[in-house]
Amino acid sequence: TYIVNDACIACKYTDCVEVCPVDCFYEGENMLVIHPDECIDCGVCEPECPADAIRPDTEPDTEQWVEFNRKYAELW
Ligand code: SF4
Repeated sequence: TYIVNDACIACKYTDCVEVCPVDCFYEGENMLVIHPDECIDCGVCEPECPADAIRPDTEPDTEQWVEFNRKYAELW
């Protein structure tokens, strides 16, 4: 899965949301999140993010962000 991290806060771009083929972006409190169970790992959103806030969970130290993204995505 991909996740959104805190570099997203205050970013006004939503290009990532528009390109996602499965609509798995959700609004968190002050940033967007990705539902980790709905993301199909296609990667098309990553280059769309001007803040570089969308990262694959294969990178180190992303575990807490997976849980954060899941928490806010499931509020919807
Ligand atoms: Fe959507 Fe693909 Fe990005 Fe996952 S990697 S959030 S499926 S655009």
